[in-house]
Amino acid sequence: QAKQAGRNGYHLFDPEQDRKVHAHQEALNRIAQAIENYEFCLYYQPKVNMREGRVIGAEALVRWQDPQRGLVSPGEFLPLIEEHPLSVSLGEWILEEAIRQLHIWRQQGLQLTISINIAGRHLQQRGFCEHLARLLKCYPDVCPQQVELEIVETSALADIQYVSDVIDQCRKLGVTFALDDFGTGYSSLTYLKRLPADVLKIDQSFVRDMLKDPEDMAIIEGVIGLSRTFGRQVIAEGVESMEHGQHLIRLGCELGQGYGIAKPMPAQELPTWIANYAPEQGWLQPLNS
Ligand code: C2E
Ligand code: MG
Ligand code: MG
Ligand code: MG
Repeated sequence: QAKQAGRNGYHLFDPEQDRKVHAHQEALNRIAQAIENYEFCLYYQPKVNMREGRVIGAEALVRWQDPQRGLVSPGEFLPLIEEHPLSVSLGEWILEEAIRQLHIWRQQGLQLTISINIAGRHLQQRGFCEHLARLLKCYPDVCPQQVELEIVETSALADIQYVSDVIDQCRKLGVTFALDDFGTGYSSLTYLKRLPADVLKIDQSFVRDMLKDPEDMAIIEGVIGLSRTFGRQVIAEGVESMEHGQHLIRLGCELGQGYGIAKPMPAQELPTWIANYAPEQGWLQPLNS
């Protein structure tokens, strides 16, 4: 039996595999250290009503300020901890930091909605909703209605009934939910039907190519149609130009977020950006159809 396993390569020492396991463990150790050292920070990207030219909120996006490497984007470290309890530790810090920031802005007289990305593992952590409720109690001037949680359809959200119950429970507190990267998962329509989310967030991959790819345009029209049928709000991410914005408005999607409006920025810069936000007139005039 052992011989057979050996022949199939299972029990053989593989230096390449060994090196990978060590590198992964090393990376996890560094991330754990970084959480303890408060090396993470949140950037904020404005979300606007493109038709009215009005800021409606901002999305919190985590960054790692690594003393050695500088600013590291989430795509480089979140996938490493997706299946690991560290994603819960980091998620708890992110949630608290974003709500604390809302409180600071509130004190400065700025009323905003903040969207916070929640990892599947974090959302399914026992006591997630109670933890959120406690946090909101700590900052009584922050309204739960100012907090929106973005979730992505992943294998991490395996237990859809459990997740749906957590969402219901959290919505009773007043927070809202968005289905992020909508349309990219394997079972988006099942999620749409079974998860009580308030908002569908059209994935940026469809928005990016919508002007040159009729199929992407059709998907966007489809998502907007679904949002109407199911009584959900719809927002587009990855709005890289005014032309994208105008087409989206024409199709009936007025809410947008993307580099064409603003890039993610440090918290201190957001109030000034909002005060100076005055979109060019073109944004506000949808194309004639
Ligand atoms: P996401 O939640 O879909 O966030 C949108 C990503 O697209 C952000 O990348 C944002 O900077 C980028 N983006 C915004 N506008 C444009 C645009 O016009 N063009 C292009 N090409 N990109 C645009 P970022 O910050 O690197 O985040 C990547 C992903 O990492 C996020 O995708 C989200 O899934 C995850 N993530 C980021 N922050 C957090 C967090 O605090 N918690 C969790 N659980 N996940 C996070
Ligand atoms: Mg998001
Ligand atoms: Mg997204
Ligand atoms: Mg994404």
